[in-house]
Amino acid sequence: MVEQGHSIGLTRVAIPRDFGGLGLGMLGTAVALEEIASVCAGTALIFGAAMLGQAPVLLSGDPRLQSRFLPLFSGDEPVLACNAVTEEEAGCDLIIPDNAVHAREVMSARREGDHYVLNGRKRFITNAQVARFASVFANMEGAPGATGLTSFMVTLNTPGVTRGPVADKMGYRLCLGSELLFEDVRVPVENRVGDEGDGMAINMAQSNMARASVAGISTGVARGALEMTLDWCGTRVQGGRHLHHHQFTAAKLAEMSAKVDASRLLYLKAAHKAENELPAPQYEPAVAKLFADRTAIEVADLAMSLAGARGYLRSFGLEKRLRDAYGTRIHEGTPEVLALAITESLYLGD
Ligand SMILES: Cc1cc2nc3c(=O)[nH]c(=O)nc-3n(C[C@H](O)[C@H](O)[C@H](O)COP(=O)(O)OP(=O)(O)OC[C@H]3O[C@@H](n4cnc5c(N)ncnc54)[C@H](O)[C@@H]3O)c2cc1C
Repeated sequence: MVEQGHSIGLTRVAIPRDFGGLGLGMLGTAVALEEIASVCAGTALIFGAAMLGQAPVLLSGDPRLQSRFLPLFSGDEPVLACNAVTEEEAGCDLIIPDNAVHAREVMSARREGDHYVLNGRKRFITNAQVARFASVFANMEGAPGATGLTSFMVTLNTPGVTRGPVADKMGYRLCLGSELLFEDVRVPVENRVGDEGDGMAINMAQSNMARASVAGISTGVARGALEMTLDWCGTRVQGGRHLHHHQFTAAKLAEMSAKVDASRLLYLKAAHKAENELPAPQYEPAVAKLFADRTAIEVADLAMSLAGARGYLRSFGLEKRLRDAYGTRIHEGTPEVLALAITESLYLGD
């Protein structure tokens, strides 16, 4: 599937054409991810996480880094990246700037001549098993919490890098998530993105961009569940008529459809803004993701209620939507993290 995705450009959707990519930007990326997720969210996340691994270099505007890394994703063979932020002790603390000071036991970076030495352990990293490159966030030794967070591009065949076993997730099972261990990993200084200590700002900038496309994934999950339910309610007959003629069923179908449309409009607006404003705004992508994540869970739940016992069978394919929906709610901002970002924007502006 990765090879097929690569052949139609999914490994380089957001990379500018000058570097061999499709140059579709945030709007094109989000729309593509909705389409894929309407069939399989796990497949969408493989390519979405790969884009996140490219994001710091894309956002850096640094021509040296861009010409070294971006063309590598446009060769004949598919190349995947991953985005390594989350750790065992530091989860949301790495994506809430005000809490960086409280982050505990964060992966460390120490400068030694023309290299940095990285030590630590990342968790829940999508594509870590199969990626060639990782965008890694590590804290400069001596800086409290994550206040010295710094962004690096790391080639994953560098000595000292170990890929952990694949996590047994509830949903999103097609994309492989695992740990990444770094033991005295030497990374050349020219692989640093931005300056020392810029990591939190880079992470927030890429999250603000990415939230619009994760909202695209959630919208796709909801849409897939809606489409299956429309088919089912249009063919299943009880009480002498198709299910959709029953008023309670019609009310549920209408609510599902309205929520899918509203989610799509919110993520399109957010992606459009993220594409045209630098740095990407905080408010619209957070609102889009908050609403679309909830929509995915609610629509998948309503779909399950309309499918009866068949929906409870794995072979029917609906329960997968519900399992995937709970995953989209976690990565790139939980509802609580999004609420903090939205409220901050409401009071202070973006
Ligand atoms: C399918 C999937 C794919 C993922 N892929 C990646 C990846 O590719 N790269 C990567 O780095 N990570 C990835 N993650 C990890 C994800 O980003 C983290 O799980 C997420 O940031 C939350 O961190 P945590 O699980 O440690 O939860 P915690 O930070 O322990 O939070 C637990 C709960 O407390 C709440 N909470 C935490 N802090 C606050 C606060 N200040 N105020 C209010 N509530 C708070 C949270 O909202 C949550 O409900 C993935 C996760 C999933 C499920």
